[in-house]
Amino acid sequence: RNNTSSGTHDKPLHILRSVFGYEHFRAPQAEVIDTLMRGGDALVLMPTGGGKSLCFQIPSIARAGTGIVVSPLIALMQDQVAALRQAGVRAAFLNSTLTPEAARRIEQQLLDGALDLLYVAPERLLLERTLDLLARARIALFAIDEAHCVSQWGHDFRPEYMQLSVLHQRFPDIPRIALTATADEPTRREISARLALEDARAFISSFDRPNIRYRITQGGGSAREQLLRFIRTEHAGDAGIVYCLSRKRVEEVAEWLKAQGLDALPYHAGLAAEVRLHNQSRFINEEGVIIVATIAFGMGIDKPNVRFVAHLNLPKSIEAYYQETGRAGRDGLPADAWMIYGLQDVILLRQMLETSESDAARKRVERHKLDAMLGLCELITCRRQALLGYFGETLAQPCGNCDTCLNAPETWDASLPAQKALSCVHRTGQRFGVNYLMDVLMGKADERMQRFGHDKSSTFGIGKDLAANEWRSIYRQLIARGLLAVDIEGHGSLKLTDACRPVLRGEERLMLRREIKAEKTKKAATRA
Ligand code: ADP
Ligand code: ZN
Repeated sequence: RNNTSSGTHDKPLHILRSVFGYEHFRAPQAEVIDTLMRGGDALVLMPTGGGKSLCFQIPSIARAGTGIVVSPLIALMQDQVAALRQAGVRAAFLNSTLTPEAARRIEQQLLDGALDLLYVAPERLLLERTLDLLARARIALFAIDEAHCVSQWGHDFRPEYMQLSVLHQRFPDIPRIALTATADEPTRREISARLALEDARAFISSFDRPNIRYRITQGGGSAREQLLRFIRTEHAGDAGIVYCLSRKRVEEVAEWLKAQGLDALPYHAGLAAEVRLHNQSRFINEEGVIIVATIAFGMGIDKPNVRFVAHLNLPKSIEAYYQETGRAGRDGLPADAWMIYGLQDVILLRQMLETSESDAARKRVERHKLDAMLGLCELITCRRQALLGYFGETLAQPCGNCDTCLNAPETWDASLPAQKALSCVHRTGQRFGVNYLMDVLMGKADERMQRFGHDKSSTFGIGKDLAANEWRSIYRQLIARGLLAVDIEGHGSLKLTDACRPVLRGEERLMLRREIKAEKTKKAATRA
């Protein structure tokens, strides 16, 4: 019962069932496939796990010729090809891992029309001899996976992706499909422009993950203690992922959780390959294993029943936060995205950013992304609305399933303390970090302060009415909202920004989040 009785129209559905073993298409797979079957171009924005691969795999099989898939990650490419072959699809890849003989064999198969799908790394595709080869073969379509790699503003920028518009120039009649899970508006525009897909039909899925409950708490006290309490009270025996920023911290936290009786395993790029593989397969195959990992963990892992993702540090962008938290609750059942962060994170991330190899333009973009992430943390309205808003999607009502919806944060008019905090930065010459500024405000002079004469400054001791943790929280929120900037060359000293002027002059009221009363004494909270 092939294309004789059903005609070309049902062919994709037949392939879905007979080759992939699925009964129905998910939205918008059928429409995307139909667009390509008719020879049109498509731009597909769908969250991770949404089912992008079938959108190009099925038309590649259904149309005459071979579907050429551009994919940047060699490991994922090999996994996909292996899975396709198992399903009986004639798939292969061309990348740097092949011997010249093996590559030649595959090229011959392509010319013989013996392949449904051929995965190619972008740098390989762009070689003149590969383009010549393609010109001699019959091509069903071009699929450009992870299309956001074309974006200079994105976190996975690949220069070779910029040249992929050559496909349009050289093969104007062959349908093209670009796919990504990164959905913000600038990236979308950049993909269309750089890949010459302005006329492509766009399929934009919702990025909402309604079963994930977003919670972001401020540090104050030990982060790992709070993590332990969270796991014990809400996720005893559940599988989860805990993300940390450094390898050292990953090992510490995994070790410590294990000592507390939890089944926790470390995962980071510095571990021996066998150890990583072992820990990963325990996580995937057993119930209730917790993986403590750097961000290296998770790419290509498709475990449906991860019940929580915890962040012990601030991710460097909202995209990263969304991707990492998105690994929770793939099965659609309730899951938690829980995060704790503090002022030190902000300073550390800024430091990493400023001291990285990236050029000035790139740093500016990264700074902007980090600011957006901070904005999400300090929000006093629905987190999901803000998260989806960042991806260009609007959610009409507050979600009712994030921490700010469930427990409206208490806010307070912090205009006056903020003026004091900002004046103190100004009076001390914008050359000092948070701890020093707090000492000035709270009137704690030491020898160094006397040397600078700040014990005589007009802001000395004007902040005795608040505790150290309250000042710390004010400074953090001022930084997060962009009223203060962290100067990394000045070792974390704070500088005024233009945005702070209205508050400093008393022209604008500033409402801040009231922190949950920390039990810590002033002394413990002073040095985070
Ligand atoms: P993405 O590339 O968007 O992250 P994948 O293409 O890897 O997502 O698909 C995610 C999972 O959903 C895979 O396990 C895939 O087999 C499954 N899937 C995709 N389409 C369907 C469908 N129509 N019915 C059932 N499962 C599907
Ligand atoms: Zn909400």
